[in-house]
Parts: sequence; C-alpha cells; structure tokens
Amino acid sequence: MAPRLGDLATEALAWPARILFPPVCVGCRRHVTQPGALCGACWRQLRFLDKPWCPVMGTPFQYDMGEGFLSAEAIANPPPFARARAAVAYSGVAPRMVQLLKYADRTDLAPWMARWMLRAGADLVAEADVVLPVPLHRRRFFTRRFNQSAELARAVAALAGKPFAPGAIVRVKPTRQQVGLGISERQDNVRAAFRVPAESDIDVRGRRVLLIDDVYTTGATVSSVSKALKKSGAAAVDVLTFARVLPGHFSQSDIGAGEFRSEDFGSGDFRATGPGPI
Ligand SMILES: [Zn+2]
Repeated sequence: MAPRLGDLATEALAWPARILFPPVCVGCRRHVTQPGALCGACWRQLRFLDKPWCPVMGTPFQYDMGEGFLSAEAIANPPPFARARAAVAYSGVAPRMVQLLKYADRTDLAPWMARWMLRAGADLVAEADVVLPVPLHRRRFFTRRFNQSAELARAVAALAGKPFAPGAIVRVKPTRQQVGLGISERQDNVRAAFRVPAESDIDVRGRRVLLIDDVYTTGATVSSVSKALKKSGAAAVDVLTFARVLPGHFSQSDIGAGEFRSEDFGSGDFRATGPGPI
C-alpha cells in the first residue's frame, strides 16, 4: 500500500532534526530509530504495572485475589485518596527517565511517560473532572525552572482531553527534598505544606481531582496534597504517577542512592503485557 501524503510530509519535516540530533536510547545512549525511544534491552528492564492489583493502592498482586480484595497496606493505613495507580515500577530505566525529566530538561519525555500513565490509570482518567500536578514551592521552581509533575500532568490532561489546573493547589511551606528521609520524616516534612488558594476553589470544590506526580515512594506527599484538596471540598482525589516504589522496596539508603538495581526486582519477570516499545 502506498504511504499517505501526510505521512510523507511528516517524515520530510522530521528528517533534518534527526540528522542534527540522532535519537539515542534514554536509558543507555545507544542509537534508536525514534526520539524518546528505548532500545530493546532497556525496554525489557521496565516493569509495567497491571492487574491483578490492589484496587486502592494499585500495587500488583502475584495472583488474582478476586474482586475487591485489598492489599495489607490499604487495610492497615487507609489513604486519604481514593485510588493510586502508577505506570511502571521504579526500577530498570524508570529512575533514569525520572531524573532526565527532573534535572536535564528532557520535557520531550513527558508525553511518552504520560501515555503509559494513561494506560495504567484509564479508569481514574476517565472519571476525572480536573487534572492537577503536585506543586513545587516557588523557590525551587525558579532554581529548577520547571515542575516535572506539571509537565506530566499537562501531557496527561492534553492526551485525555481533561481540564488542567496547574495553580489549583500551591505549596505554602518550602519543604526539604524527600530524598534521604525515612517514612515518618517524610510525613512530617510535607504536613500542612499545601493549600488551595481562594481563587481556585471553583476548580476543586465538588470535583473529582486527578493528582499527578512523577514517583510514588511512601505516599507522604500525595497524601498531604489529597488532604488539602478534600479540606477544600474535592469530591474525591485519585493519584496517578509515572513510577511506583513497590512496598518492601523502600529503604532510606536505596532512595538516597536515587537508583534501584534491576536485580532487586528479579530479572526476566517483566510482563509481556506492556503497550509495546515506544
Ligand atoms: Zn538502552
């Protein structure tokens, strides 16, 4: 079948950029065919999260435990948000993607990451009235220049055709970086750090909010934001992140190092149900 004229035009427009910036794998810098793509080896290291999972926490179960079966985590410590979902486990090339988006101005990665998030959070996205990012404090925003959660939230909202309200929740207390803190220190650090400004009441009150962040670690930050949103009348809050540190894989030293070794997650058990190489 002959290629459509539109495809040829897109190709023609794309080639000068490819010559100037030959696309390399986000994980290992090997050459790949498309910008933003991963090579096969890095792709296989990603673990896409999928059902069966806890309907509240979105953490995968080894076996299907039946409708409505909750994880021990959800029962022992019910979160202030309704549901949490993440696209991938925080392992393999996922930490590197997060770092590039956060510190290396690779905002071009956000739409790729958002596509995977839409897949994991399809129900949450479909039911959302408004999409919000976890905010940075103004001071940090200026030093880093952009909020990686806002980049992901913008891409999710655009792909899903949902309203995006980046200023609807603000950080009123300049919190320390969560990296290197233990679970209770993380909770103290973000307590009462967020607020819905009066002018944003209309974006939140009575609405089902989809809150976006890059990584779910202990849930301290998204829980604190969820509480502030519900205090301001949000009907419910769902949380969608790119990556998730799976329960049992959190420890201070691991998070401080900023990386998980892929062998921590067992090699070769990545599901074949991912959306296919990007
Ligand atoms: Zn690679």
